[in-house]
Amino acid sequence: MTRKYPERRTKIVATLGPASCDRDTVKDLILAGMNVARLNFSHGDHKTHTETLKTVRSVAKELNVIIAVFQDLCGPKVRITPIKDGEVRLSDDATIRLAHGTGGETGDENTLYVEAFDPVKVVKTGERALLADGRIVLLAEKVEESGVVCKIVAGGLLRSRSGIAVPESKLDLDPLTEKDLKDLKWAIENDVDYIALSFVQSAADVQKLKGLIQEAGKDIPVISKIERAGSLDCINEIAQSTDAMMVARGDLGLELPLERVPGAQSLVIDTANFLGTPVITATQLLQSMVTEVRPTRAEVSDVCTAVMDGTDAVMLSEETAVGKHPAKTVEVLSRILVEAEQRMFLLDKPQPYKSSDRNAVPDAICYAACGAADKINCQAIIAGTQSGSTARLLSKYRPKQPLVGATNMKHVLARMALFWGVEPVFVPLDSSSSEEEISAALETLRDQYGYKPGSRVVVTAGRTARKTGTTSIMEVREIPRG
Ligand code: PEP
Repeated sequence: MTRKYPERRTKIVATLGPASCDRDTVKDLILAGMNVARLNFSHGDHKTHTETLKTVRSVAKELNVIIAVFQDLCGPKVRITPIKDGEVRLSDDATIRLAHGTGGETGDENTLYVEAFDPVKVVKTGERALLADGRIVLLAEKVEESGVVCKIVAGGLLRSRSGIAVPESKLDLDPLTEKDLKDLKWAIENDVDYIALSFVQSAADVQKLKGLIQEAGKDIPVISKIERAGSLDCINEIAQSTDAMMVARGDLGLELPLERVPGAQSLVIDTANFLGTPVITATQLLQSMVTEVRPTRAEVSDVCTAVMDGTDAVMLSEETAVGKHPAKTVEVLSRILVEAEQRMFLLDKPQPYKSSDRNAVPDAICYAACGAADKINCQAIIAGTQSGSTARLLSKYRPKQPLVGATNMKHVLARMALFWGVEPVFVPLDSSSSEEEISAALETLRDQYGYKPGSRVVVTAGRTARKTGTTSIMEVREIPRG
């Protein structure tokens, strides 16, 4: 069975949930084009996530497709406690009290209890609280000892344990909660391919998580979720400290006025592109497909904009986790991405030079390799890579030619599944000779991927094979005859 739209370069992240964690749906998702599976630790227990992880790994092996799996840590998502009878309708212009829920309180139309912080200490008069994904707006009118008295500026139906955002208030919550630390242990034991950190506010937050992973003796890359307004002020530092980023538009759209979200998306993607840090654009891309079989015109345009902005990957959340048509949504998304990429290539912008202060020689080689590939119109650009870093640097230049990340490191294969345009290829050779490595990669492409003998490819390698960060060679080679 072959995957649909194999020519697609932008990667697809799909969140797995109740609608998509069974074996048949996972298989359909992979065949429809999922590259990365997201396990959302805001929901579900360890037992369920372990089952889902096993299913993805086993189906990917059966289909011989490289799929990365990432754990999305919940972070300090602030919620209200349960509400009497599960939900309450809040009326416009009425007043309601926001108080601190320290355990067991039940909210109603008079009082809502906030977990994780005390509104009395955080919210000032004139500041807003947003609930129900921003549809319900409260305005703080008076701060009293027992709670903050708010006017309901925009009412509506509010459900138990809804998220609450206070965009104008200064909220200083550690992005790694106690729950996250337990979940992190699970990720480390289960060797996930990436760990996503929610509500990152600074490079120090990322370094803290990286330190914990390192202390556990692991090398798992970190995805920093950009969803706090404040993180935009230090986006460069975050981009330099992380392995990948996500424009988490759901929470970002509560922190910022909605009309500023597209600008924030461009800023994050530009910053990531410049450094060659992979970036995912997330949330509500094809939201209407949670129930419908066709997206809206506006959603299709939004996906196209993310591609034009330069995203490496796009992410589906509810669409695949709880939606009615998980695999269909991935297929529709693939089709839109391929068309958007065609447009991007048709614009034929000159290859931008992107400075990077990391690994300057490998970066220069990758820039040269993409230029050479374009001149001689070769079949592919092949990175012999130990850590995935050379494949990532090639991807940064968005070449038209297919990119191959060839490695004998199994854990690096999955990591590359997130990189724009990179096809991860396992080359079963453990040699310290770069010549032997290149030959093995070319033979693998000929024997397993149908590359025609005699066709030209551009190859990058290091003089010392099996050492990361040593890429210093760029050569035009031919696929050998058998
Ligand atoms: C988001 O806010 O867009 C997001 C992806 O984060 P989460 O779904 O974990 O809230």
